[in-house]
Amino acid sequence: MQTELEAPGTEPLDVREGVVLAGVRKAYGPVVALDGVDLRAAPGEVVAVVGPSGCGKSTLLELVAGLQPLQAGRIEIDGDPAPAARTALSAWMPQRDMLLPWKRAADNAAVALRLAGGDRRESRRLAAAMLDRLGLSGFADALPGELSGGMRQRVAVARTLLAGTPVLLLDEPFAALDAITRGELQTWLRATLASEHRSTLLVTHDVEEALYVADRAAILTPRPAAVAAVIEAPTTPAAARADAISAPAFVAARAAALKSLGAAA
Ligand code: ADP
Ligand code: MG
Repeated sequence: MQTELEAPGTEPLDVREGVVLAGVRKAYGPVVALDGVDLRAAPGEVVAVVGPSGCGKSTLLELVAGLQPLQAGRIEIDGDPAPAARTALSAWMPQRDMLLPWKRAADNAAVALRLAGGDRRESRRLAAAMLDRLGLSGFADALPGELSGGMRQRVAVARTLLAGTPVLLLDEPFAALDAITRGELQTWLRATLASEHRSTLLVTHDVEEALYVADRAAILTPRPAAVAAVIEAPTTPAAARADAISAPAFVAARAAALKSLGAAA
């Protein structure tokens, strides 16, 4: 199981960089959601978190974002364990897109910039440029109600990226979309994240999505969740999604992930 990025000829990564979780425990009263979770995503890495419904995936992202206290263990972003620092260093995309229905796409995408004190026109200009980059040219002035589900999720990802934080926390971003749109957005997200030097945790219950979009998938056990297995995503060349997911190495990785998910359930 490879958990470190160590390309030959490069310096070993500073282990304090990115997101590190060690021995994390979280209980809601008598309900223990997470117990003994170890996880790491270095800068530039995308780590998928896969697990059965109710096992604690959303809780895990909220803990990383410093939105909830943990009972035991340690979470650091760039070496800093303070919850307020983690809130500042991460951008959380919750399970629902949470776009403001009365704000146009560019203004929704610009929310984090505005909250950080950015000038309205400059924030909007940066947001419109991000929407262009994410394939939404011409939709900067659209209201969320005028956009398809897939477009709304792109605006929500744009808003998350524009926060400019070293850590991205994406909670089942495509769960509500139809299969065709979901496949398109997986291809899009994979390409988008490949050009970002950030640490991304991608929560999903879709093993194929996990292994296609992420560098590796951490499979969680049912509640209380711990990491049952870490499955490396096969390095597929930039092929069409349909070809990538039918390659023998991909099929084998998916089978291994489903097996540990089944064994964990
Ligand atoms: P997942 O995202 O994997 O579906 P969650 O993290 O939402 O799981 O929830 C994990 C467990 O913790 C569930 O049993 C859920 O009912 C419980 N839980 C989540 N949030 C709270 C909360 N704020 N108060 C009490 N229990 C909660
Ligand atoms: Mg959830």
